[in-house]
Amino acid sequence: MHAPHAPLGESPPNGASVCAAYHSFRVCFSGGQKDDRKAFRVSADRPLCHDLTLTSMMKPARRRPRLVLLDRDGTINVERHYLADADQVELLPQAGAGLRTMQRLGLRLAVVTNQSGVARGLITPQQVETVHLRLRELLLAEGVELAGIYTCPHGPDEGCRCRKPQPGLAEAAARELGVDLTDCVVIGDKPGDLELARRIGGSAILVRTGYGGTTAALHPAAADFIVEDLGAAALVIDQLLASDSLEGE
Ligand SMILES: [Mg+2]
Ligand SMILES: [Zn+2]
Repeated sequence: MHAPHAPLGESPPNGASVCAAYHSFRVCFSGGQKDDRKAFRVSADRPLCHDLTLTSMMKPARRRPRLVLLDRDGTINVERHYLADADQVELLPQAGAGLRTMQRLGLRLAVVTNQSGVARGLITPQQVETVHLRLRELLLAEGVELAGIYTCPHGPDEGCRCRKPQPGLAEAAARELGVDLTDCVVIGDKPGDLELARRIGGSAILVRTGYGGTTAALHPAAADFIVEDLGAAALVIDQLLASDSLEGE
């Protein structure tokens, strides 16, 4: 069965309002693909329709997503090598708008971030804290409030349970925010973010910002969806919610 094409920017599902800034996006879905985890792309400058069944949209998130677990560097803010200086925190274009849309769709937002620079002695925990204060400040100016920021300060060889793709940070966020892990959507730019989503049974959205372009090239099948940035990720989540409500009818 072929799902109807649904240009998101023109007719937002569920009566949800889509930011006017997104109206140049077109997200279309058509049926007939065997590969039900096929990634698709949403782009402002490359409007396109990508083969994707509506059924396949529902598979990654069988239940209504409630919590977005966001990677930090290269996903929300510009990637810097071991970011230690609050003055170097810079939101990526579309980060504020995309997160604002997710928030308006009723989702809570939490950051899950690996900061091995602490274990390596390159950043102090205080610097991480200062960076996070600045990040919260910049996002608040965009009307976005984070429900939590969860940080792994360990190195890759410490065998901790919180360094992504280990599920510790996600588990802590879900527990503290009262959300089932499988109701989470993970958004990030690295393979570890996508692997985290797989381990907790949530959906994985790969953004092409930060290391996302490289990740998409090397691991094209690892994400449920591949999008340009957080603005486009918000549209995917909007569609997930819409397909979820269709499923319930
Ligand atoms: Mg990252
Ligand atoms: Zn850790």
